[in-house]
Amino acid sequence: MTVLCPYGTHRVIEPVGALPQGALRLDNRMESYPNELLLDVETLNIDSASFTQIRQEAGDDPARIGEIMMEIVRTRGKHHNPVTGSGGMFIGTVKEIGKDLQERTDLQIGDRIASLVSLTLTPLVIDKVKAIDLETAQVDIDGQAILFESGIYAVLPEDLPQKLALAALDVAGAPAQTAKLVKPGDTVLIVGAGGKSGCLCLHEARKRAGVSGTVIAMDFGEAAVGRIKKLELADIVLNADATKPVDCLALLQEASGKLADLTINCVNIPNTEMTSILCTRDGGIVYFFSMATSFTAAALGAEGVGKDVNMLIGNGYTKDHAKITLQVLRENPKLRQLFEEIYV
Ligand code: NAP
Repeated sequence: MTVLCPYGTHRVIEPVGALPQGALRLDNRMESYPNELLLDVETLNIDSASFTQIRQEAGDDPARIGEIMMEIVRTRGKHHNPVTGSGGMFIGTVKEIGKDLQERTDLQIGDRIASLVSLTLTPLVIDKVKAIDLETAQVDIDGQAILFESGIYAVLPEDLPQKLALAALDVAGAPAQTAKLVKPGDTVLIVGAGGKSGCLCLHEARKRAGVSGTVIAMDFGEAAVGRIKKLELADIVLNADATKPVDCLALLQEASGKLADLTINCVNIPNTEMTSILCTRDGGIVYFFSMATSFTAAALGAEGVGKDVNMLIGNGYTKDHAKITLQVLRENPKLRQLFEEIYV
């Protein structure tokens, strides 16, 4: 008899004993156990680091991107990119509520929700890839998914377009952590500030650092810098390639004369750890939200330059992260307009 586990270990095929996130392969049969939800999936929001890697591998050919995604799910029973190790999340409609959950959940059959746990631990089947949006990393599919008893989700808000909510919820950990980490008067540097999570973090950094604080936005290229300037949230905007740490440090020092108390890394490509570390003062905090972060590069790199900074792994979850993130879009009309231009 299958022993049901709230964390979903009953779906792990290999290695036995692993939790679903770290597992190589999950059982993705779409019949719900009594402690699971079964959902019809409409859209996947692929994690930016993962989607960037898949686009590169596919040479930006949508058909090939679809094949790679199908292959990942066929092999692993979940959308767990073997190169980046990252996933994403989904929007779907509740189809079945396992009998052990019926008393305990507020959900009804037919409710539309966004999953707030990673696709790297979500049993998934893709029957058909219907549309791939290369700009937003959102992929419409026919498919189904399972959420475990411990899996968190958000019922989609009625006042925000669903793809916009999906995009924001995908990175909900970042603005919510920013809200908790930034203190009044802080100098905050956001690397990759023109991206989805970066823009949301800019809002929270501005709000929490206040008038006595300094918010510095760094991104690479005119398009991203243009997006940042329109938001009018940063005191200083730097156009710099975060894979070039010494150049970035020089630019920061020239523009602001000081290092950051807190640096938030929201970049979607590898090799940006050292820019974040060099640009942060001794005793300051580097918050690595990026999934392209290498623990080894950060730990050994900081040691190598004698930098005594506190480094945080960007936990995708922090209490009330969905509420905090959706509130950013409600209270900042410019940010909401930017998201609507991109996602709606
Ligand atoms: P995004 O919208 O793609 O934003 C990434 C930003 O980084 C873009 O503005 C991009 O600029 C910029 N960038 C790219 N190369 C750069 C360079 N060399 N120097 C400076 N900036 C550069 O990504 P996102 O959705 O916000 O996600 C950001 C990161 O968080 C990704 O690594 C993603 O995997 C990760 N993530 C983490 C969690 C978690 O739980 N920790 C959850 C979701 C996502 P261009 O647009 O001009 O390329």
